[in-house]
Amino acid sequence: MQGVGFRPFVYRTAIKIGLSGYVRNLSDAGVEILLEGADDEIAIFLRDMQELKPLQAQIHEVTKTLLTGKNQYSQFSIIKSSEEMKHSGSVVPPDTAICNDCLHELRDPNDPRFDYFFITCVNCGPRFTIIERLPYDRKNTTMSEFPLCGFCRKEYIDPLNRRFHAQTVACPSCGPTAYLTTRDGEAVDTTDPVREAGRLLSEGSIVAVRGYGGFHIAVSALKERPLGFLRKSKRRKAKPFALMARSLEAIETFAEVHPKEKELLTSAARPIVLLNKNSNYNLSDQVAPDLYNVGVMLPYSGLHYMLFDRVGDAAFVMTSANPPNQPIVKDNEEALHILGGTVDYFLFHNRQIAQRCDDTVIRVHGERNAFVRRSRGYAPAPIMLKRKAKQCVVGFGGELNNTSCLLYEDKAFLSQHVGDVENIETRSFLKHTTEHLLRLTNTKADKVACDLHPKFTTTNLARELSERNDWQLVQVQHHHAHVAALMAEHDVDEIVGIACDGYGYGTDGSAWGGEVLSCTWDSNSFNRLGHLEPQPLLGGDAATNYPLRVAAGILNKKLDVTEWVIQNSRNLPHGKTEAELIVRQLKKPQGIPETTSLGRVLDAVAATIGVCHERTYEGEAAMKLESVAVNGKDALGLSPFIYGSVLDTTELLMSVYENKDRFSKADLAYSVHAYLAKGLAALAVDEAVNYGVGNVGFTGGSAVNSLLSRFMRDAVEASGLRFLVHESIPSGDGGLSLGQAVVGGFSDD
Ligand SMILES: [Zn+2]
Ligand SMILES: [Zn+2]
Repeated sequence: MQGVGFRPFVYRTAIKIGLSGYVRNLSDAGVEILLEGADDEIAIFLRDMQELKPLQAQIHEVTKTLLTGKNQYSQFSIIKSSEEMKHSGSVVPPDTAICNDCLHELRDPNDPRFDYFFITCVNCGPRFTIIERLPYDRKNTTMSEFPLCGFCRKEYIDPLNRRFHAQTVACPSCGPTAYLTTRDGEAVDTTDPVREAGRLLSEGSIVAVRGYGGFHIAVSALKERPLGFLRKSKRRKAKPFALMARSLEAIETFAEVHPKEKELLTSAARPIVLLNKNSNYNLSDQVAPDLYNVGVMLPYSGLHYMLFDRVGDAAFVMTSANPPNQPIVKDNEEALHILGGTVDYFLFHNRQIAQRCDDTVIRVHGERNAFVRRSRGYAPAPIMLKRKAKQCVVGFGGELNNTSCLLYEDKAFLSQHVGDVENIETRSFLKHTTEHLLRLTNTKADKVACDLHPKFTTTNLARELSERNDWQLVQVQHHHAHVAALMAEHDVDEIVGIACDGYGYGTDGSAWGGEVLSCTWDSNSFNRLGHLEPQPLLGGDAATNYPLRVAAGILNKKLDVTEWVIQNSRNLPHGKTEAELIVRQLKKPQGIPETTSLGRVLDAVAATIGVCHERTYEGEAAMKLESVAVNGKDALGLSPFIYGSVLDTTELLMSVYENKDRFSKADLAYSVHAYLAKGLAALAVDEAVNYGVGNVGFTGGSAVNSLLSRFMRDAVEASGLRFLVHESIPSGDGGLSLGQAVVGGFSDD
């Protein structure tokens, strides 16, 4: 990987041992090292190369060739990288958080970069978000506008300096500058714009802060008024906001931090980690309403650290600045135009952002990372597969929380988070980011893969590009793509996958979302082995937004729900009129579409026990139900009711309904999670044993649910089979594009 300081490290190591020769980039992300010296010295070099390599460097493979010749090189040197891009599949490094050495210099009054908000070195700083083309040289990045001063140049050309060939090297006299303006773009008179922005935040102002990959909207995590205004202005009723905390100690004042979470929080990728709130949680309830966890990250640049210098706040809300269904805002003019009505101030800097990039979000399940979103700090580093694809494929993903994926040989380049691809802005972001990946990696696609849904924006985009570029089009069923991604991530020959989420277009055109299926590498088809009981979706999309409709549809199979629906009419947007309409529809239930979605069952339970009545963001009812369930026990104690290959959910909801005044919400919610997870696991284990398959996996958006995942693992492992979950890509639709690309790239047909 270029841009991680590997060549200077090799240089220093060779000099230290007294070897001569050279090191050079091969522009396919590998390096060639020629060493001349004694055998034992070379052995020491090879050992040190593995053991002492820079933090960000990953050595995938070492190929050694013994050469003849003697005293050909008088010294060791770094040979300039060849401009020519002969190879394909180059790896572009992701952005990296400020390192400890730079942080130390930032705080040292005697250092020339004291207080410099964009201090970086060869080990840290932005990469992907500033690179316009390869090779990774300064002139190919947005740092090209900032010629090096004498001081920086001296460090840049000194092989023994930490900033040797650090393309982002800069200082207060030659680098980007930060400045503060009002919402109208008028300069605020201050000599210390970053700390002044921090002070304004602490006082209750809303500030748009430009970072590496785009703008955050920042606001106090304690003050109700600006938080309320931000929710209203962003039209975000309840969707949780992420926090940036000043330090690990500060996080521990409001959330639990386990060792694995600490490791992630302080890692060079600096993701947002979903942490359980602790009993001292004292931040506003508006940060993550009705949820037991909250997303937190630590500062990832000098600028972010400095925001906290003059205030006592433990954390600020830092949410991606993107209007609904649009990509994160990255340019200064764009920000003034789009965010001016929301924020009080702008904290700008004057370096262009080449690529938009949102923050990564991760949950920890036991010892495993569960990506909710894989973006800054990870993208576009490839997921390394253990097999090579037959063809180069681009996967365009689905519709929500989307990414694209470029599969070339054994490298699956998953793009940064693109978001919900429903309109022109996100569509063009997806197209642009995919073309950028193809350009950076110098690859040409043979195929384009997309969802089976005939009307998705991404399906249309794939069709269009397939015709224009003469790429073969492959449509992959939604849950098949999820399971194929899991199979590829763990490199298993066969898998029985449990794929659960809110919605995916089925091969029969109906709505799927609680599926058990099997697939293999060489076929572009799959076997649907089982699923949840199909349930009515009264009013289609309205049922997705108002879960009472789903609950009424299910319960209506067994009892007269007229009275209950009328009683609950305050939980419907049109009240009694709507309740009466629902009751009339239930009396003649023909022509109502059905779904096997796990998400809708959880919604129905949430509505029945009064945990959530309106979905204002994706997965809201399910997340709130999980938050309620964590402190419960299996009070219902139901055994899975499976008929044929279908897991019953009607009796489940009936049981919840009948016991809703007898047991606590926590116990009911817990019982439902236990039933569904055990039932789906039983279906999958049965089929796996039938077919002699040793691996059962859990994928889809519902797999971020830690309770479901834990119950399933227990059940599958108790039967002696291996249980697989995603660890390097999102289980939700952010990982869909990879599964599509795998189906396209490995299947024979
Ligand atoms: Zn550094
Ligand atoms: Zn300088």
